[in-house]
Amino acid sequence: MTRPTAPPSPAQAAALLMIWQVGPLSLDTLARHWTAGAGELRAALSALEAQGLIDRTGTLYRPEGDEHATRQAYAHHSGVRACAHCGCSDLWGCPDGCWWTGDAQCSACAAQGVMPHRRHHPGATP
Ligand SMILES: [Zn+2]
Ligand SMILES: [Zn+2]
Repeated sequence: MTRPTAPPSPAQAAALLMIWQVGPLSLDTLARHWTAGAGELRAALSALEAQGLIDRTGTLYRPEGDEHATRQAYAHHSGVRACAHCGCSDLWGCPDGCWWTGDAQCSACAAQGVMPHRRHHPGATP
C-alpha cells in the first residue's frame, strides 16, 4: 500500500471525484463544471495522470488503476473524514455501500474484521 506523500490538493480531489464517479469526461466537460481556474484544472489533471489515478485517451479522461488506492488519494487531497483501512468517505463510499462504525472505520471493513489500528505486518513500525 502506498500513501500519497504530495501535499493535499483540493483541486486534485475534485477532479478525481468527477472522473471516477461520472467519467470518462472530456476536458471541455470538466472545465464546464470547474469553479477554480483553468490552469488549476490542467495542473490537477496532469498530476493525477502522473500518479496513475486517471488515464487520458484523446480528449477523454477516465478512471485508471485501483479504486482502493484512488479513494485513499481522494481522502488525502480533500481532507475529508475517511476510513483508515480502505479510504472510503461520505462522498466516495465502498462499492456495496457502507456507513461509519467508528471514527475511522466503515461497516464494510468492520464486517471483514479489519481493525483500523492493527497492522498486518509484525515488523512494521507504527
Ligand atoms: Zn473501510
Ligand atoms: Zn467503506
